[in-house]
Amino acid sequence: MSTTATPFSATILGSPRIGPKRELKRALEKYWAGRIERAELESVAASLRRDTWESLVAAGLDSIPVNTFSYYDQMLDTAVLLGALPTRVNGIADDLDRYFAAARGDDENAPLEMTKWFDTNYHYLVPEIGPEAIFTLNPAKVLGELEEARAQGIPARPVIVGPITFLALSKAVDGAEAPLARLGDLVEVYAELLELLADKGIEWVQIDEPVLVTDIVDNAAELAERTYTRLGELAKRPSVFAATYFGERSDALAALARTPVEAIGVDLVAGTGAAPAAVPELADKLVVAGVVDGRNIWRTDLEAALGSLSKLLGSAKTVAVSTSCSTLHVPYTLDAENDLDAALRSRLAFGFEKVAEVVALARGLKDGRETISAEIAASNAALESRTSDPRLHNGQVRERISAIVASGAKRGPADRRRAAQQGRLKLPALPTTTIGSYPQTSAIRIARAELRSGKIDAAEYERRMKAEIADVIKLQEQLGLDVLVHGEPERNDMVQYFAEQLDGFFATQNGWVQSYGSRCVRPPILYGDVGRPEPMTVEWITYAQSLTAKPVKGMLTGPVTILAWSFVRDDQPLADTAAQVALAIRDETVDLQAAGIAIIQVDEPALRELLPLRSKDKEAYLNWAVDAFRLSTSGVDDSTQIHTHLCYSEFGEVIGAIADLDADVTSIEAARSHMEVLDDLNAAGFSNSVGPGVYDIHSPRVPGVEEIAALLREALDAVTAERLWVNPDCGLKTRTTDEVTESLKHLVAAAAEVRRG
Ligand code: GLN
Ligand code: ZN
Repeated sequence: MSTTATPFSATILGSPRIGPKRELKRALEKYWAGRIERAELESVAASLRRDTWESLVAAGLDSIPVNTFSYYDQMLDTAVLLGALPTRVNGIADDLDRYFAAARGDDENAPLEMTKWFDTNYHYLVPEIGPEAIFTLNPAKVLGELEEARAQGIPARPVIVGPITFLALSKAVDGAEAPLARLGDLVEVYAELLELLADKGIEWVQIDEPVLVTDIVDNAAELAERTYTRLGELAKRPSVFAATYFGERSDALAALARTPVEAIGVDLVAGTGAAPAAVPELADKLVVAGVVDGRNIWRTDLEAALGSLSKLLGSAKTVAVSTSCSTLHVPYTLDAENDLDAALRSRLAFGFEKVAEVVALARGLKDGRETISAEIAASNAALESRTSDPRLHNGQVRERISAIVASGAKRGPADRRRAAQQGRLKLPALPTTTIGSYPQTSAIRIARAELRSGKIDAAEYERRMKAEIADVIKLQEQLGLDVLVHGEPERNDMVQYFAEQLDGFFATQNGWVQSYGSRCVRPPILYGDVGRPEPMTVEWITYAQSLTAKPVKGMLTGPVTILAWSFVRDDQPLADTAAQVALAIRDETVDLQAAGIAIIQVDEPALRELLPLRSKDKEAYLNWAVDAFRLSTSGVDDSTQIHTHLCYSEFGEVIGAIADLDADVTSIEAARSHMEVLDDLNAAGFSNSVGPGVYDIHSPRVPGVEEIAALLREALDAVTAERLWVNPDCGLKTRTTDEVTESLKHLVAAAAEVRRG
């Protein structure tokens, strides 16, 4: 049986699937719009799989991950595999329609909730487990892909999200107990799957269990031992490769090693990158060593990686080389970047280049260091070039930060600020405002495309953006909002916009990474010391302010969010990099203030996202995150009002940090949680002003006046009228102008009604 499977030596844990030119995105969106047939979508998908496998084999991997393709998301695929789709979509006859209804919703059904995949920027669909859930095996997808791979002669290794991870990341619905209580039942479905795979002649199966190396599950070690002992003892099964990633070694990993699984994947770049010391339990295992970072874009230090691998070889039965996780999280290849200088290029490795690193390391491990001496020399040269590249060492930036930090980076006391701001702004009680963006109209998209293609020049682009700003200001005046925004028409993305203007960042041309479903982002690369050569937003904001007597908020993205949505240099602590970004934002706030802007919002929607997975690392993170925010906002006078905005999350673990940000006004997503966040903020000692979102902008639904008024009255139970602001949950860029107009009309009316008492 299983133990006779040949060990492999070079692999990756998974790969991107959206297509090097985002072919899958285009096909999906056409299919959803009814512009292509299912057969055409399937043929695009099949050719992407074929090309991916072919290139991985050609590069020299000897075991290829299969079933990592997805039309939308791997957790949703796993829900289908296990018969765990929400019951509300079960009536939909066509399997693909049913799948997309669960992913995106349809006229009758709400979609599954979406949330971040660990601490990456990928979002998965959260499976719902009800009290009646009966798990059943539905292996059509994995068997279909294996069939294709076999026809292509690929050494295929199916990849399946493991049962512990699947349940730990699912949510209980309709009063069901915690999903993990169902682990015993679910494992039997995996047992059935393993037998089936053995029948099909599959040698290796990869079962992904990242939760085992995080703090998400308390009794992970016990669950791992129970689950993998059961699966390991099956009489008929492929060899099992249990893959952990995104975390350092844990008790659960040691427990896993005591089970009969044949291979264990360890992430050797996560956390503090602790050296892989001898692990006695691994002595009879194939250790799949994740030495090439699968989620960042820096070139691997081959010398160091080979050292780790050799050391590991001493304590394992045998060692295979791998990426630390799926390369889903990085762009396809550097070859698609034409605008990259040689020095920076030499320090980078995207997905395809990482495969080459894995193959080189596997060769070095097997045949000796000298067989890859050229690769090692190139890697050493690239690393060394960082020390002499002036872009990475700006003494002036570093000195300015030290001086500001030494002086305390503090604003005046909150009550003094409140008085100074009220004297200047004279706002009514329950002031109304919005979060920043207004609908990204087709006129805006056309202007951006025409600028890119050279059809219009920068002056014409600016003229069109100003016309958009004028429209948005007029709309807000008509609606009677109290604090206006310029609407952000000039920003395609709240991080990219700033990255393009700051020193130390490189904006890729084609570095697309899947964010969710068909959505991709192009994270900028933060490689050097950050500098702000000139003001970035002042002209747009002052133009907007020139059109109205009401205050217009300046709109900036905060340092934590800029880091969270970029690929960040790894040659210095994140805290240092955050401080550099903060300094650039601080310079911008000072310029906005000098230009007469009285209110500045520094958005930090990603504050919760960057929270480390391991409890022990959380405090240090929150400290530097708060410090960076305060560095970015403490350069202005007491009479300048600082706002911040937070969304996308449960705020529980960061609630104290939100209070510590000490923004004068914090707008926060709340409509879906019924204002509960206000009590949490009070309990954390927060006493500044707060704008709990009064309607959910993710839905096209227009909220009624009474509904908003009721939420405001509820909010007034928790905070005084002087502290309460009225605003939507988030920016409005994904909505239509009609939806926005109606919704805000109701918001303003509700505020007026509640003010009257
Ligand atoms: N100011 C941004 C906007 O309104 C905030 C976006 C966000 O919170 N993600 O679009
Ligand atoms: Zn938001």
